[in-house]
Amino acid sequence: DSIANKISAGEVVQRPASVVKELLENSIDAGADKITLSVKDAGKELIRIVDNGAGMLREDALLCVERFATSKIIGVEDLDSLKTLGFRGEALASISSVSHFELKTRTAKETLGLRFRYEGGVLAEESGVQGEQGTTMSVRNLFYNVPARRKFLKSNATEFQHIFEVIKSFALAYPEIEWRMYNDDEELFHFRTPEMAERLNFFYGSDFSDSLIELSEENDYLSIRGFLGKPAMQKRKKLDQYFFINRRVIQNRMLSQAVQQAYGELLVERQAPFVLLFLEIDPSRIDVNVHPAKLEVRFDDERSVRNMFYPVIKRAIQLHDF
Ligand code: ADP
Ligand code: MG
Repeated sequence: DSIANKISAGEVVQRPASVVKELLENSIDAGADKITLSVKDAGKELIRIVDNGAGMLREDALLCVERFATSKIIGVEDLDSLKTLGFRGEALASISSVSHFELKTRTAKETLGLRFRYEGGVLAEESGVQGEQGTTMSVRNLFYNVPARRKFLKSNATEFQHIFEVIKSFALAYPEIEWRMYNDDEELFHFRTPEMAERLNFFYGSDFSDSLIELSEENDYLSIRGFLGKPAMQKRKKLDQYFFINRRVIQNRMLSQAVQQAYGELLVERQAPFVLLFLEIDPSRIDVNVHPAKLEVRFDDERSVRNMFYPVIKRAIQLHDF
């Protein structure tokens, strides 16, 4: 019911950036290879995501804002081999309960799309609509009915920064997706090709990709690829450290510490290095169900991961130490 949704919204949706994250995950899960994010007023007025994914049939579109009405888990054992980013079926129920929410969707099979408008989680309007295959979700006036939360949103600069961090990590994690972003009607970027250098240089500065070591290694158990900052990289304000496991952005102490140790004394003023690493591992060997924000990941055999991970990083750095 809508009270339960409003309460759970407090966990799933902390700020505009959390809405962006949930909606982008859904678009990726729907198989989109073109995703456009538009925000207005740092997401406080509008967050809109247009994707060209599978779309939804009417029944699924009506269900998707219901709590736990996810299509992604059939049995409990599926949690072990999770391939999709979302799996709790809580996000849309939560988001729609604390906003003015609009959903437009069309599958490849239909000729006409559907449009649903919700106010505080209650269906207010349904109509047919022309449109491309895929789904558009618009979230307006987030927390309009939760004044305490609305009041605690930070300045536009801060909220925008959080949103930008989210889409940046997705754009780096999914090079095969054509990403586009608008802020207050102004286009910020449009990545038309899967070139990583273009994205890295856009986000970090024009010749940033020159100061990176690229690596790619795998064994039966683990695959590691991505980029590391060259040890002598000039001191910057703050360097990002991204670890993706099976393409989820994650945090893991062991991985961060292993990287730090591998660089050791080579780091300028012991500053944490730039890291953008993609690890692939059998999903049954990790536990992502640790926290509602799905950030912390545990390995079932941390020692084996470290035993492969550390030397790979160490070797990559030593090869490029000049
Ligand atoms: P979860 O992602 O955990 O399944 P959500 O509340 O985020 O839960 O989404 C509920 C369901 O709505 C999804 O399982 C999916 O079936 C459907 N859905 C959500 N967003 C999209 C989208 N952009 N395209 C197609 N289907 C979607
Ligand atoms: Mg989801």
